[in-house]
Amino acid sequence: MEKYGFQAEIQKFLDIVINSLYTDKEVFVRELVSNAADACEKVRFMQSSGQTIFQPEIPPTISVTIDEKEKKITFTDTGCGMTRDELIENLGTIAHSGTKAFLQSTVAANDDEKNNGSNANSSNPAESLIGQFGVGFYSAFMVANNVTVLSRSFKPDAEGHKWTCSGMDGYELESVADLPRGTQVILTLKDNCQNFTQQYEMENILKRYSSFILFPISLNGKELNTVQAIWARSKVDIKPEEYSEFYKYIAHDTKEPLLKLHFTADAPLLIQSLLFVPDSNIEKMGFMRFQAGVSLYCRRVLISEGSKAKGLLPEWMRFVKGVIDSADLPLNISRETMQDSSLMKKLSTIITKRFIKFLEETSKNDPEKYDKFYSEFNRMIKEGVLSDFEHRDALAKLLRFESSFTDAGKTTSLTDYVSRMKTDQKEIYYLVAPHRKAAEASPYYEGLKSQNLEVIFCYDPADSFVMENLMRFEEKELRSAEQAEITVETNAEKLNEEQSKHIVEWFKTLLGDKVKEVKISKRLIDSPAAIVSEDKYMTTAMRKLLKSLQKEEDALNTVNYNLEINPASPIICELYKAWDNHNPIAEEIASQIYDNACIAAGLVEDFSPLIKRMNNLMEKTLKQSFK
Ligand code: ADP
Ligand code: MG
Repeated sequence: MEKYGFQAEIQKFLDIVINSLYTDKEVFVRELVSNAADACEKVRFMQSSGQTIFQPEIPPTISVTIDEKEKKITFTDTGCGMTRDELIENLGTIAHSGTKAFLQSTVAANDDEKNNGSNANSSNPAESLIGQFGVGFYSAFMVANNVTVLSRSFKPDAEGHKWTCSGMDGYELESVADLPRGTQVILTLKDNCQNFTQQYEMENILKRYSSFILFPISLNGKELNTVQAIWARSKVDIKPEEYSEFYKYIAHDTKEPLLKLHFTADAPLLIQSLLFVPDSNIEKMGFMRFQAGVSLYCRRVLISEGSKAKGLLPEWMRFVKGVIDSADLPLNISRETMQDSSLMKKLSTIITKRFIKFLEETSKNDPEKYDKFYSEFNRMIKEGVLSDFEHRDALAKLLRFESSFTDAGKTTSLTDYVSRMKTDQKEIYYLVAPHRKAAEASPYYEGLKSQNLEVIFCYDPADSFVMENLMRFEEKELRSAEQAEITVETNAEKLNEEQSKHIVEWFKTLLGDKVKEVKISKRLIDSPAAIVSEDKYMTTAMRKLLKSLQKEEDALNTVNYNLEINPASPIICELYKAWDNHNPIAEEIASQIYDNACIAAGLVEDFSPLIKRMNNLMEKTLKQSFK
């Protein structure tokens, strides 16, 4: 047995690795399994490139065993193993990565072979190898006070060795006979790390970090990684069942996914990504919220889990489940965060853009599917329009609404609306109403309808926020129907100017502070009167929405809407006569007209005084007609 001491600076560095490099102790599992996977990959590569290896009949596998009584965890692989020199070089030197050196030598060799025109019958391991920093192994010391490594190299004439380290001062090395090919790393756990010998705990950690390692992993004999990293495979080779199985595994869902996007990119980053939209929106009911579900991987090893990968994708995409794998991630040494945040931003933008484009394509190629998607997830798209400035315009194209030109139940996009606009039409009109019937009966709709202008019907209260926030679409202003400036010409009998002036004054005296002003309307056709907001942004729909959210009390308490009266309405004409004749019923009718306008604007909450007056009026009408 020989003893080797660590250099002083290595001791310091080791201290950093153990005490402050990693945020979670459990990452030692990720690091040791990654090393085992790299060792398996190397032996697979060497075998496939025709080299003679020790015990070629043993396939590369990884097994983990935990022993609660002995307080031990053992990681065993049948990979390439290490010679005596390699043990000293790889485990006795911090920041020396044998894997990186291996990669550089094989890539160089591959290039040579290519130049010589010979065909190496072996895939390049560059994409599969994980190690690169030469510190991961030491993460074992976060949880163990003794680490023993038994290793036998793949080289046929090599000997087996035992490497032991139980302190910061150095390690011991001795040769051991009759070891099989590969490496065994045995950890004797510190007292406060006993939880890692619990089957449940260890299984979860292994599944979290290493589900998609290319080689079989078992825990105390139980095989764990039965799901393949299909995102890294070519699309044509993947069966639909495989996608569905994969989705169910990562999303913990029993239903089939609604949509799937599998895509790869080469520049500016190598990206392999597989995204799914679930069948239903759990947020629809209002008491659950999606946890961001897209995890970030680098060469099949988890870097950050969906819920922790905050900021990876925009918030509105939280309903999306899946993985993004990039072999090019500029990871920092702990492999937990990125060194280059601008590159992460780029990654986020690439994925988000591609996902939006995919939804756009789905709406064209499979409208029925898109409708189903939209009915489930429209609130997410709207949230995106409101919150994701970078992608707002692209997201606006995904919005769908019924309109006065569509059949009931059918929708249109804003793009299609614009394509139908009249040549002299400058604005896109929309009307917020609880449903189609209400929209069609709205006093705000009649003027636009008479001029054959298409009006978007918005049934979701959130739509008024969306439209006001969006402001314009393809250079066209979005205009609430209430605010549309239109003048309808009519030949019908109507009040003259003098009469109009009188009725306006009378209404204002009657209503007092309930309205800001009373005006003669230029836009009404059938309705006797309508409430019209003075403030472009505080439309009646918005007022109603804010009221339901109990927000902006001040804005709500200042009355900034007018009553517009239709001088051509038969009711108004008759009302004028009644008023002129000092008929006492005139006052009640006028109040009812005002209340009806408020109902149409969605401003009435207490109907009881209105019903009382209505009953009163009916009684009087009946008495009068049977006199
Ligand atoms: P990295 O994996 O980033 O290279 P590590 O500190 O995790 O750094 O490991 C250092 C080196 O030790 C590896 O590059 C590899 O050459 C060697 N090594 C570690 N574990 C094993 C193993 N199970 N089998 C073979 N070699 C290993
Ligand atoms: Mg490593």
